[in-house]
Amino acid sequence: GNMARVQAIRQIVNRDSKPPKPPERLKDIWAENVFNLDKMQASLPKAVFKSIKKTILTGEKLDLSVADAVATAMRDWAMAKGALYYAHVFYPMTNLTAEKHDGFISVQGNGNVTSEFSGKVLVQGEPDGSSFPNGGIRDTFEARGYTAWDVTSPAYIMETDNGSTLCIPTVFVSWTGEALGKKVPLLRSIAAMDKAANKVLGLLGHKDIAHVNSSCGAEQEYFLVDANFANQRPDLLLAGRTLFGKPPAKGQEFDDHYFGAIPERIQVFMQDVETTLYKLGIPAKTRHNEVAPGQFEIAPHFEAANVASDHQQTIMTVLKHTAKKHGLTCLLHEKPFAGINGSGKHVNWSVGNSTQGNLLDPGDSPHENAQFLVFCGAVIRGVHKYGPLMRAAIATSSNDHRLGANEAPPAIMSVYLGSQLEEVFEQIKTGTVTESTQKGVMDLGVDVLPHLTKDAGDRNRTSPFAFTGNRFEFRAVGSSQSVSGPLIVLNTMLADSLEWVGNRLESELSKGLELNTAILTVLKEIMEEHGVVIFGGNGYSEEWHKMAVEERGLANLPTSADALPTLKEEYIEDLFQKTGVLTPVELESRFEVYAEQYILSIEVEAKLAMDMAKTMIYPAAVEYLSQLSSTITSLAGLGIHFEKESAQKVADLTKSMVEATDKLSTALTKHDFQSTEAHMQHCATTIRPLMDTVRSYVDALEGEVADSFWPLPTYQEMLFIK
Ligand code: ADP
Ligand code: MG
Repeated sequence: GNMARVQAIRQIVNRDSKPPKPPERLKDIWAENVFNLDKMQASLPKAVFKSIKKTILTGEKLDLSVADAVATAMRDWAMAKGALYYAHVFYPMTNLTAEKHDGFISVQGNGNVTSEFSGKVLVQGEPDGSSFPNGGIRDTFEARGYTAWDVTSPAYIMETDNGSTLCIPTVFVSWTGEALGKKVPLLRSIAAMDKAANKVLGLLGHKDIAHVNSSCGAEQEYFLVDANFANQRPDLLLAGRTLFGKPPAKGQEFDDHYFGAIPERIQVFMQDVETTLYKLGIPAKTRHNEVAPGQFEIAPHFEAANVASDHQQTIMTVLKHTAKKHGLTCLLHEKPFAGINGSGKHVNWSVGNSTQGNLLDPGDSPHENAQFLVFCGAVIRGVHKYGPLMRAAIATSSNDHRLGANEAPPAIMSVYLGSQLEEVFEQIKTGTVTESTQKGVMDLGVDVLPHLTKDAGDRNRTSPFAFTGNRFEFRAVGSSQSVSGPLIVLNTMLADSLEWVGNRLESELSKGLELNTAILTVLKEIMEEHGVVIFGGNGYSEEWHKMAVEERGLANLPTSADALPTLKEEYIEDLFQKTGVLTPVELESRFEVYAEQYILSIEVEAKLAMDMAKTMIYPAAVEYLSQLSSTITSLAGLGIHFEKESAQKVADLTKSMVEATDKLSTALTKHDFQSTEAHMQHCATTIRPLMDTVRSYVDALEGEVADSFWPLPTYQEMLFIK
């Protein structure tokens, strides 16, 4: 019955609220737990510091004697801050963060102990990560994976209730040098993009061209539920989402949560999160309520993609840990509650360098405009050519609940440019860049190229990939995902496009064309070939789904089972191979891992749904039914004939639920699949719909069975009681 629920509510109401700590001064705590350049400078001999700084800025190889000195300084700093352990932190293909902890302690021959941490240990570790999925790259008997410090991402101290640990961000590779994690391909994708961008910038007439990096600022949405409730929901604990639950009478239709006042308890939580992040040098910037009740968002200021990606992983960890401390459970799942908005992670992405600045910023001068149009054109080409790959990069079983529902961008990849920019590209396509229909938009002057004014206010929430003034926002990324995967794809497709643009520009220029005319020629070609990917209308509408597929030939890949096989296509293999981002073996292994994760998570959920239906819902329904029937019988003895329809309804729903559960159970026994693809399709088209059927009966029962018999905390309780 609901005794446990009542108990939970009592505990929440009577909890002593943590008073907010007085906010600490940012400058006192900023990056205090990070072994950054400042701390290195303060603790290292000048020559060593110069050398490590050079390595950090240029990515050059680290000399072992330098590594030894850095390791000693790092250890002393960490131990002075109370750390007894260090961990190589790495990012396997599972979207999670993994770490192997080791003590600084070293036992001597005479039984004495000292603390030890050499350059070799700092630079390379052997985590024996054989239990991490690797898609067949390593056989377990050769279970050697190495982690190696990514010097461009600083070491830091993670404080937990069980003590502090020195954390070293690392890449994860096999003993044969194959990428096992997410960081190596990210670094490679940046290098590929840098190379191609450099060439294009050179052709645009720049002499001094610094390393081009990509930037990322990710907006993270999440839900908070009181732990007293979450702990009573096996589905939240094991699957991260509710498998059952009737939407509450009051949902999000009132929109009163969005940007509303943040409840005090949540505010205290957020402040705690931000303090931890600031100490870790993570620039958390915005916080607000989201659309759904109980949903919130945190967004740091953007950083270099590699660091942003590590920081994003840490943000997810800190959100979860801190929630626990505050008696809350943080849900990062894309769709924790049916019928209520899900959570995404908007990946804001741009590319730039220290000499030319943000290359996706239209700038003020006609010259900057031209450069912007070239880079923007390259992005347009990339999204058109590799849209299915972008879809594959966000394909998880959990994100499938969001994409395509009318709250999140559709599973069809298109680009939103805003009306002004869209018009400019249209005019480039039709060769009518001579006159402006919009006042102030074009400054043709002596130039043949349009002069742009900034138009950052233009927003289209229904587009999966939108230009927002000086960056693109990939809005279809899932809230629980690592941002590395999407960033790898964006950088790689841009590298490929810029390479193409570079070659085309070169050939036009060699014909003697003037630079701006050459640019226009190449952009016109891009628009003719790839302009169909630009879409400014309503991405949720049925017309778009029809038009996108039938008229424009864009792919609509509604489920991960449809999207992931893209990774096996030849043109994708070619893309990754020629850019040097992933070898065919590495790519294949990624397909295997992602497909396996997809299948596993759906099968685990299905089993859990069956268990809950049988062991929690069925007993509650039957108990209620038995009470109902004895009431009806005893009333009949008194000559009062009470309606029996409600009992009949509960009985029917219960029977149907059991039947549906049996069907699901049978479907789960199927194992003779021709291929991984077929297995995925079985999950998408058979298991998932059967789970939905079971759910429909359970949710209907929730509306019939007396509340005092219902075993699961309700949506109302979880979403509104804090
Ligand atoms: P909005 O709600 O308008 O999308 P937010 O301020 O919540 O905007 O988040 C925007 C995110 O985009 C922030 O993380 C911000 O730092 C990031 N961002 C801003 N400029 C760039 C850029 N040039 N490249 C990458 N990210 C950027
Ligand atoms: Mg946004």
